[in-house]
Amino acid sequence: MSISTPPFSEEHEQLRQSARGFIERELAPHAQQWEDERWFPDAVFPKLAAQGLLGLKYPESYGGQGGDYLHEAVLCEEMARIGSGGTAAGIGAHINIATPPIWKFGTEDQKQRYLVPAIRGELIGALGITEPGAGSDVAALSTRAERVDGGWVVNGEKTYITNGERAHFIVTAVKTSAEGGHHGISFLIVDRCDGVSSSKLDKLGWHASDTATISFQDVFVAEENLLGELDGGFKLIMANFQWERLAMALGAVGAMTVAWERTAEFARQRNAFGRPLSGHQAIRHKLADLATSVYTCRCVTYDALRRFVAGEDPLREVTMAKLLTQRACFELMDDCLQIHGGAGYMRGDSSPQTHPIERAARDARLGPIGGGSDEIMREILGRVLGL
Ligand SMILES: Cc1cc2nc3c(=O)[nH]c(=O)nc-3n(C[C@H](O)[C@H](O)[C@H](O)COP(=O)(O)OP(=O)(O)OC[C@H]3O[C@@H](n4cnc5c(N)ncnc54)[C@H](O)[C@@H]3O)c2cc1C
Repeated sequence: MSISTPPFSEEHEQLRQSARGFIERELAPHAQQWEDERWFPDAVFPKLAAQGLLGLKYPESYGGQGGDYLHEAVLCEEMARIGSGGTAAGIGAHINIATPPIWKFGTEDQKQRYLVPAIRGELIGALGITEPGAGSDVAALSTRAERVDGGWVVNGEKTYITNGERAHFIVTAVKTSAEGGHHGISFLIVDRCDGVSSSKLDKLGWHASDTATISFQDVFVAEENLLGELDGGFKLIMANFQWERLAMALGAVGAMTVAWERTAEFARQRNAFGRPLSGHQAIRHKLADLATSVYTCRCVTYDALRRFVAGEDPLREVTMAKLLTQRACFELMDDCLQIHGGAGYMRGDSSPQTHPIERAARDARLGPIGGGSDEIMREILGRVLGL
């Protein structure tokens, strides 16, 4: 399966090789330990920064690599090779959802104080939108920011926040006016300080990542930390979603590719009834179907990516890519697990002959929920398609 497909150029493919080498050498060997410890070290961020991998799409003037979203797209795919969805998620939250709004909507001062150290891996970011009472229905959020002299005082709670325990700053959606619906939402960059507390959540997959509930109790946030326009936060949320969903689609394509390759190899090696599993038509056909699914997901995702990079507003294509890939990825993981038989049900470390397919299957279950669920994707498509 060739991956040097347009829109990627030779330069992007070189980046792919170097990012893959770094990930396989420096991160993947630790995946099992980080999963067991339910935490990957913060030191991973400066390590990535030293390779230029935290600022691929950001201008050189801020310490970035001066690349574009295609460079970032390469990394999104390659992060599947860490073999720990949680580690990829923590890194991804920093580069794909927490820092882009600062780059796009931030003041020069905010870029210097947050984006520059984030690209260096010195500050870690999180994006705080979801609340106990407001997930898909973002407009229902109730964390309040009351105007005071020189800034705001924030009270409320966010939940399911990736990097929620370790983040130094949280790009936080708050209500700044009593107006209902999409109006009166603003974004504040909240430093971890007095009044900010977090508690880590236990979950089905993504074990190495710190998904947390964050409480804000009378937290003072200075005026200069308002991100974007006052009461204009909904626009920022929508702008952010397109790249987040594309990044998730790319991540799924990467994870599916790795799982397929390893499962095909397993099917060639493992014998049953006097021949390799791949010699049995049922398994061979299943692998052929799975390869077709990987290819389809790749094509749909790359089409959305091409349009996004060309400056179109590909809401329909990005939404379709997110919807298609997340469910397809989970289903493929289940099929790959089945082909591994009992070994597929074992943890990767307890059975050296296996790929940690059980972890990949658990990690993949988040896709149809996070970043806008399958049902919300269908609602968006319903609107776009005029239904
Ligand atoms: C591991 C993990 C990491 C996350 N990281 C972050 C993060 O970093 N930052 C952040 O802000 N959020 C994060 N989230 C939150 C995530 O975006 C939400 O979980 C998601 O948007 C769904 O919201 P909810 O969980 O409140 O479900 P709900 O909105 O309560 O939905 C419950 C179910 O009802 C369905 N549903 C809702 N509305 C409709 C409708 N109109 N029609 C049909 N069905 C509907 C949903 O699809 C879902 O199946 C994370 C979540 C997880 C699990």
